[in-house]
Amino acid sequence: MTSSEAVPVSPSNTPLVKSEFPSGMKSKKRERDNNTSSDEDVEHESSVNMAKETNKATALVTPKKEKKDDYVFSPELLSMYYSRLFPFELLYSWLSYDPSSTPLIQSPSKSRNAIPSKAAPSVFTKREFSFTIEKIPGEEIYIRYKSFPSKKELESTICKMKPHKIDIGAVYTHPPKDKDAFQDFKPTQRELVFDIDLTDYDGVRNCGCKNAQICPKCWTMMTMAMKVLQRGLTEDFGFQHIAWFYSGRRGVHAWVCDSHARNLSNDARSAVASYFEVMADTEHNKDAMNLTSPLHPLLARSYDILEPMFVKHILPESGHGILASSDEWEKLLSTLPESAQKVSDKLLSSWSSSQNISTPEEKWHQIQKTIDIFLKANKKVGSKQARTLSYVDANKLETWKYRTVFIFTYPRLDINVSKMQNHLLKSPFCVHPKTGRVCVPINIEKVEAFDPFGVPTLPQLMQELDVYAKENAIMEGEDEKKNKLMDWEKTSLREPFDYFKKNVLIPMQNELRRDLRQEKEEQAAYNGDF
Ligand SMILES: [Zn+2]
Repeated sequence: MTSSEAVPVSPSNTPLVKSEFPSGMKSKKRERDNNTSSDEDVEHESSVNMAKETNKATALVTPKKEKKDDYVFSPELLSMYYSRLFPFELLYSWLSYDPSSTPLIQSPSKSRNAIPSKAAPSVFTKREFSFTIEKIPGEEIYIRYKSFPSKKELESTICKMKPHKIDIGAVYTHPPKDKDAFQDFKPTQRELVFDIDLTDYDGVRNCGCKNAQICPKCWTMMTMAMKVLQRGLTEDFGFQHIAWFYSGRRGVHAWVCDSHARNLSNDARSAVASYFEVMADTEHNKDAMNLTSPLHPLLARSYDILEPMFVKHILPESGHGILASSDEWEKLLSTLPESAQKVSDKLLSSWSSSQNISTPEEKWHQIQKTIDIFLKANKKVGSKQARTLSYVDANKLETWKYRTVFIFTYPRLDINVSKMQNHLLKSPFCVHPKTGRVCVPINIEKVEAFDPFGVPTLPQLMQELDVYAKENAIMEGEDEKKNKLMDWEKTSLREPFDYFKKNVLIPMQNELRRDLRQEKEEQAAYNGDF
């Protein structure tokens, strides 16, 4: 499957509008996007002005230098993280896409440089990295178009510059650091990436979180989004190598690494992203999400995934409580079409009775049952209520439950990130300066168990290294195997990093090897070399 042929038909025929919220977050997000737009070329000292711009944008999102930042994040902690824990070998091995590289089945035994860096440097060396550095506290400098000839260079530069943030861009025709020397400098490949951020859910986060805040209640929305997108990417597009990462604060990123995903044109990327973009501007335009009955297969499957989680996490008091109190259920019932006023009247009078002790889940089913009865009566020739609904309202009523579930739970993608090959996205394994948490891989098979509050912070990791050193001090020199462990294997980063290595990286490398072998055999057959 290549190019735009790969793109299934979008589930909605109407122009799809991204959610907008009155909080003004959208414009802030735009500023952030602009900071990573393709036409920036900021190098070293000349980047000071841009640095000030970058600061301005950041300052809008969250006040800088909260006191607790100093505790979870400091230049010293970051320096320690890069020199001891950052998995350069995993990042290099991944971004090399090199079928001839050493499989990472065992831990590299001798040193951090154990993975050969000579192999297939062509893809890696042409990859853009961008760094955000902060030499003077509060003054961020943003540097684009960096590239590295080897893992060793990448590692030594990062350890020296200690970027607060690392972004990864496209693979270009030439090493990005030499871009001015080539007129044909342009992106050639890039993982298909997705960015989902809880800020885009502010209008439906009934837990009270806004902007950068998150809590376990709203994190369930991320879990639901990941499940839907994963199924769509694998079942509708046939992608197999999808790596999910926590963004370190309030969202998640997906990196689709299959070779046909990496080679998609910008148009095809836009089409894939638009295929998933169903969430509409529901707060300002109630008709924006135009669903049909029966649903498009993507949406029918998404509903099956989302509805049970909606019942569990969105309806009850322990979640977002949208059917847990009279104020909330009145608000929800007001979203029914006006011509179906009888449905809400009936339910409201039933639920206001002191004898009514139905649970939010029971109420959810009562709404659907009442709608069904109302719709049947409308269709029945000769009944009192026959044909009182317009076709449009009848359709709205039929699809009301889908709309409701999707408004709260369907993935809200920042599709600008997905559309362009050269859009930058934060590097996995980085540390978020505001939380001190590592952008760890997420095990998509156990996505419901992922807890962003359980992701280790820098101080916690340093403590874990100390504890490990103390506990294993006696065995020094005796237990060869333990001494050969990477430092990250001695901490709680072991599980997520190992998951990435074994479940994402190794299967991807195995496939690259299979493809290479097949290509060689075909070539040999063609040349008559058998
Ligand atoms: Zn929340």
